[in-house]
Amino acid sequence: MKLILLGPPGAGKGTQAKMLTERFSIPQISTGDILRAAVKDKTPMGLKAKQYMDAGGLVPDEVVVGIVRDRLQEADCINGFILDGFPRTVAQADALQTSLEEMDKALDRVISLDVDAEALVERLTGRRTCKDCGRGYHVQFDPPRVDALCDACGGSLFQRDDDQEETIRKRLQVYADQTSPLISYYRDADVLIELDGMQPIPQVQEKMLSLLQAG
Ligand code: ADP
Ligand code: AMP
Repeated sequence: MKLILLGPPGAGKGTQAKMLTERFSIPQISTGDILRAAVKDKTPMGLKAKQYMDAGGLVPDEVVVGIVRDRLQEADCINGFILDGFPRTVAQADALQTSLEEMDKALDRVISLDVDAEALVERLTGRRTCKDCGRGYHVQFDPPRVDALCDACGGSLFQRDDDQEETIRKRLQVYADQTSPLISYYRDADVLIELDGMQPIPQVQEKMLSLLQAG
């Protein structure tokens, strides 16, 4: 299964991708996670990316295209993958198409999650992430059993620097301007599934699985 999860920041891509990786035994490839790891490790790429990420803008296409091209060559992608947060521009989508053709592969589905702007702000301001295993939570919609600790591994939860309201609004505008054109891009390619992302997490999950299993 070769999938893209498309949608604005906070739509639930990461949350749903984690469920799909277990269900289909394929990796989640989150360019945001890869970039944050590079920032943390202070690699040259991380140092360059940080300024764009802190400002809520997009990291240049050539950087993320290179990351994904290399990642797709790894052995665990042999049976498929879930791209989460990539592509985010038409240029990235075109580059992905080229990389897949070079590997004799093709996308099966692009699932677009649709969520209202005010719900996105509420989701992102309340998002918390485990610093050890990366599992996501929400203070109200998906709280951990013990306050500020991960249910899965007991790690402490943190709030992302870019999940502050001002940066969130900038990221939502960047999505509207640069990423939302990919909805018609993939509709034209006949691989798009549009899904109402406003339902609670288990309902979105159930609907996504039934749509994927319907083929
Ligand atoms: P994305 O990867 O698209 O940026 P996340 O999966 O990290 O979004 O979700 C953003 C926040 O919203 C997280 O705190 C998550 O727990 C919460 N969330 C995800 N899906 C839903 C949903 N269907 N209803 C309510 N909250 C959700
Ligand atoms: P995310 O974790 O998907 O919300 O991404 C966090 C930040 O990483 C974004 O606001 C961008 O600055 C950067 N980023 C992640 N993926 C991409 C991408 N495909 N293209 C450009 N920038 C990206």
